[in-house]
Amino acid sequence: MPKNQGKNLTPRPPIVVVMGHVDHGKTTLLDFIRKTSVASKEAGGITQSIGAYVITHNSKLITFVDTPGHEAFSKMRTRGAKLADLGILVVAADESVKPQTKEAIKILIDSGTPYVVAINKIDKNNSDIEKTRNDLMQAGVLLEGYGGNISWQAISAKTGEGVNELLDLILLSAEMEQLTYEPESKASGVIIESRMDNSRGLTIAAVVKNGVLKVGDEIISSSAAGKVKILENFLGKRVNELRPSSPALILGFETLPQIGEEFCVGKIDLGESQNQKATDKQSILSAEEMESKINFIIKADVSGSLEVISEIIKTISDVKITGEEIGDITDGDIRNALNNKAIILGFKVKVTKAAENLAKAQEVKIISSGVIYELVKSVEEEIKNSGKSKIIAELEILATFGKKNNRQVIGGRVNIGSFKNNSSVEIKRQEQIIGKARIINLQCGKQDVKGVNEGNECGMLVEADAMINVGDKLIY
Ligand code: GDP
Repeated sequence: MPKNQGKNLTPRPPIVVVMGHVDHGKTTLLDFIRKTSVASKEAGGITQSIGAYVITHNSKLITFVDTPGHEAFSKMRTRGAKLADLGILVVAADESVKPQTKEAIKILIDSGTPYVVAINKIDKNNSDIEKTRNDLMQAGVLLEGYGGNISWQAISAKTGEGVNELLDLILLSAEMEQLTYEPESKASGVIIESRMDNSRGLTIAAVVKNGVLKVGDEIISSSAAGKVKILENFLGKRVNELRPSSPALILGFETLPQIGEEFCVGKIDLGESQNQKATDKQSILSAEEMESKINFIIKADVSGSLEVISEIIKTISDVKITGEEIGDITDGDIRNALNNKAIILGFKVKVTKAAENLAKAQEVKIISSGVIYELVKSVEEEIKNSGKSKIIAELEILATFGKKNNRQVIGGRVNIGSFKNNSSVEIKRQEQIIGKARIINLQCGKQDVKGVNEGNECGMLVEADAMINVGDKLIY
């Protein structure tokens, strides 16, 4: 490798992520590997999970990153793949390839992450390894032994059958990648979790990717900075330094870094970017916007959830997020909500007594839940009840006729208002806006028309950024 000539390269363990469709067994596999492969006396000492752990297999180390499996976390999964050296694509043999399997394949391919396939749940009566293999080949995963070079292993994450062999495959793939780091280089890594701990302050979980991270190092990321005051390994033990590919718990960031961001040892003046961030966050609202939207302030326990909830809530029409932050709901948040006429959404956070009293006195609404879906439902309820849902026109999709690139032919009935050719519409599925479309051709009774009114059926050629299905609605 000429580009590395002259550098002092030291081998490092592979960093592995597990990906696949929901319920296909990612968590079960990660749990099985953790329980059986982290030396038991050490495992007993694990006080808190930091989203990553290290195992020893055949005297070699492997770091597993424990990315949340729920579909709402696709963003983190995307970033997970960037952080990872290798992926395990888990596909359950009873259900075979599903939408999120395909999404995971795309993420792995797009990010250039080598991966192995685990065909899981082979202990189940209705498992069909052959069908799963064929479906995978169809989805572009060219398996070893079938004309391709992607290694695979049939496993049961429940009984453990095949898991050792799977770990062998991981080590083999890792060997081919020749993973190394430069011990003299400035330490750097990737943030995987940030949390506001009531007693310890900001605790940041990361994985070290280069150099040697030490207590006392000044650290920066593109949105935050600080100094490593306390460093802990994945077992919660205090250490003075950590080498690549170690998970690390870092105390000492002064501001909150984003999940998936890189950090490195260094120093910058954050003055300007911090101010910029503050104005971004507060996003001053025009009077008009205040009138037509319902404002929400989101509070969540960790930045990963905050980011995901914020992304989902943003897709709901007539919603404006006027603030988002991690940590419990305080009286400051209530005052903020009062100023912005906002409702507070809390995800897995507590409401302080002072906040509770102030909210009651000032009639500020707090919606709190530990389930993202419930929060989304409540937000939709609020919009509905406020009468601010201002749909001018609505067309219900009754038929779809094929799609080429981003163009799709659809048929539907206008339930409300009228639709015009050459106009832009939003695509609504259940209560969420899933994309935008432009009407390129509009027909009524096979005749090209300029517009179509309430109560009529029509056909359309649209250019859309999402696949439109029967039952979806187009709205202005
Ligand atoms: P995830 O959403 O991909 O993390 O899936 P989970 O690990 O939560 O698994 C979903 C369900 O499948 C759980 O009820 C597991 O107990 C079950 N499961 C996972 N792996 C296996 C397996 O190998 N065999 C069987 N029979 N059940 C499994």
